[in-house]
Amino acid sequence: MKRLQKLRKSIAEKALDALLISQPENLRYLSGFTGSGWLLISGRNAILVLDFLYVEQAKGESPGFEIMQIKQDLHEWLPGLVSDLGCHKSGFEANLISHDAYQKLAEAIRSKQVNLELVPTTGIAERLRSIKEPEELVFITKAVELADAAFEQSKGMIRPGVTEKEAAWHIEKTLREKGSEGVPFEVIVASGPNSALPHARPTDKTIRSGEPVIIDMGARVGGYCSDLSRTLFLGRPDKTFQKVYDTVLKAQAIAIEGTKSEMTASEADQLARRVIEQAGYGDAFGHGLGHGVGLAVHEYPKLGPRSSDSLADGMVFTAEPGIYLAGQGGVRIEDMVVLENGKARVLTKADRDLSV
Ligand code: ZN
Repeated sequence: MKRLQKLRKSIAEKALDALLISQPENLRYLSGFTGSGWLLISGRNAILVLDFLYVEQAKGESPGFEIMQIKQDLHEWLPGLVSDLGCHKSGFEANLISHDAYQKLAEAIRSKQVNLELVPTTGIAERLRSIKEPEELVFITKAVELADAAFEQSKGMIRPGVTEKEAAWHIEKTLREKGSEGVPFEVIVASGPNSALPHARPTDKTIRSGEPVIIDMGARVGGYCSDLSRTLFLGRPDKTFQKVYDTVLKAQAIAIEGTKSEMTASEADQLARRVIEQAGYGDAFGHGLGHGVGLAVHEYPKLGPRSSDSLADGMVFTAEPGIYLAGQGGVRIEDMVVLENGKARVLTKADRDLSV
């Protein structure tokens, strides 16, 4: 209930008297409920509003929460429920409610003459989630260890003659055999020119000797994710590729070494970006340094040149600089870190050898 208290504080700071949560990871974070539905939180009440399908599940997962079973759409129950609680200004998660649902809500409030103002909000629960509690870090660490072990075990599978899809499936199978709760995102195995696409999906392309291969994979334990990328080279890399690899490795090391709590996320990004720019590859680092990881694989903070997020102790995020040369290939090296006592501690232990 500590999380609920913090959320209520955030709600009050925004001058709201209730907040409707529907984002699945936020639901889980605040109530323990892992299905889909709604959580309405006011100063006094915390009500899970659920379809019949989820009622029994919620009783088990969310003791202490009121449960209300509904059959109707949002606009049919929300205005009445919120005003019954004595609330007149309720926030909702603007990125989760469709325009259509919002219009119906506004119409229902008007036609029923309910004294209720709906306020779009973003990131209220997500900001709380960005600072991890010790119990959360335990799960994250296990998810990191699981991905590390699965990577080490399946590395040998990345060899000439194997297709990207075969390698990706082998990695996914290994992750699941080791206990991952599904996979938090589709495993990426991108070889040769495909490795120059930061979000490549595995294809039927055969991995060949003389090619770089980017592997991006993660595990999930206790609901918490990990995210790991490594670049391998089959055979002997040429001078250019070795320089690119060394540059990314250096950018990552400098970023991790230099990142401090109380820095802004864009300053952390800048640490890595400067190294890559100085090596002449500034334009080839087309994404941010990293992203928060927790119940979601991409969450606060966002580390990029335009991010307005600030860093703080307890945050867990990736450091994953990359250089992508179109038509040739790419390099990305991704570790997870936690900010503790003002600085970044690396959680990932998978080795960074370029050759297999
Ligand atoms: Zn990532």
